[in-house]
Amino acid sequence: MQIIVSHIPPEGLHFHLSKDGQWFHQQLPEDRIDQFSVRKIDFLGMASRVAENVSIKGRIEIEATALCSRCLESFTLALEGDVFYVMLPEREAPAGEETELEQDDLDLFYYKDDCIDLEAAIVEQGLLLLPIKPLCSEDCRGLCPVCGINLNKESCDHHKVQHIESPFAALKNFKVKRKRS
Ligand SMILES: [Zn+2]
Ligand SMILES: [Zn+2]
Repeated sequence: MQIIVSHIPPEGLHFHLSKDGQWFHQQLPEDRIDQFSVRKIDFLGMASRVAENVSIKGRIEIEATALCSRCLESFTLALEGDVFYVMLPEREAPAGEETELEQDDLDLFYYKDDCIDLEAAIVEQGLLLLPIKPLCSEDCRGLCPVCGINLNKESCDHHKVQHIESPFAALKNFKVKRKRS
């Protein structure tokens, strides 16, 4: 889906781009694919134009399943975020290698040939919304590093040992346990 800049009417142009997860995953860099399974991604908003300067104001909504980076359980993730940026025709882009940095700082982007590619935008903005370390909940207790059980569901004695600093204290704990069994 593309917006033809010269066709944006004075009152602005509403858009709603809706993509399925399969399409989204095909656009992603490979290292991001395994962590998420996006079911649906939507980009809705409005493009407004003053002469050739276009502002895009909208909202990205993602429905996904993710693997918790602590306990490795899969969970449903609903994400949404506001998007606002300004686009100028590419010929106004400053020349030189620092262009990219400046663009990020200002949320200023450039479009080519009278055309704004909303599909590129939905991928870029969608990626920003997906957390790098997804968590099933903020206080997920993760897996026990010793026996590997999910500490959200079960408990074991191993995690207590981690907080004891002296290796002798840990050893003492271990012996007590052995005598009991
Ligand atoms: Zn978790
Ligand atoms: Zn354990």
